[in-house]
Amino acid sequence: MARQTTIVGNWKMYGSRAMAERFVAGLPAEASAVELVVCAPAGLIALLAPALAPRGVGLGGQDCHPHAEGAHTGDTSAALLADLGATYVIVGHSERRRDHGETDALVRAKAVAALAAGLTPIICVGETLAERDSGAATAVVAAQIACSVPPGDVVVAYEPVWAIGTGRTASVQDIADMHAMLRGLVGAETRLLYGGSVKPGNAAEILAAANVDGALVGGASLNPAEWLAIAAAALAR
Ligand code: PEP
Repeated sequence: MARQTTIVGNWKMYGSRAMAERFVAGLPAEASAVELVVCAPAGLIALLAPALAPRGVGLGGQDCHPHAEGAHTGDTSAALLADLGATYVIVGHSERRRDHGETDALVRAKAVAALAAGLTPIICVGETLAERDSGAATAVVAAQIACSVPPGDVVVAYEPVWAIGTGRTASVQDIADMHAMLRGLVGAETRLLYGGSVKPGNAAEILAAANVDGALVGGASLNPAEWLAIAAAALAR
């Protein structure tokens, strides 16, 4: 079966009720042939669920706790995200690995918790600039896959850390090489997204690379016009 092209927006720690309402108002009424997913701050999930569903836009969280519930102040369970209307959750984003010291083992446990709650985890992997410059990028990413991706219906996002929010993107050849390696590891059915400064101006060439099934978009996903332009590039490929 052909893999569904998917464009995921990661709003990071941006957004407000007013911004979410403006965003929804900027979306077309009918669903796109490309799967669109907004991964919003946890506090906006309940507001966005009934607004995005009629437009055929999916919803996801940006993190979940590895336990189903418990005394974990400030954390959000995968079950609550699902209960509020999410069907996806990002786990292992490099900003969480950096800010919260998340290890591959923890990321894997979060992905398992997401699957148990009926969510599809979007598991992020990617090397730092020092790792790329030292020639270790492939080995680093392969190890992250081995240690943070459980069996099951998951999405993998390759996001070179040095390309996130920096305006720098990996070259199309580097993306194709990494995705070819990843395809060999994750098999034919798992969607592989690229993330790292994807914008309307570079989306077409990135999305045309072999084994790229879509994009995980940060900054450009906050503006519906830019995000939809990326989705249009995905449709045209
Ligand atoms: C991200 O947040 O996963 C991301 C890729 O951000 P940006 O598109 O801003 O680089």
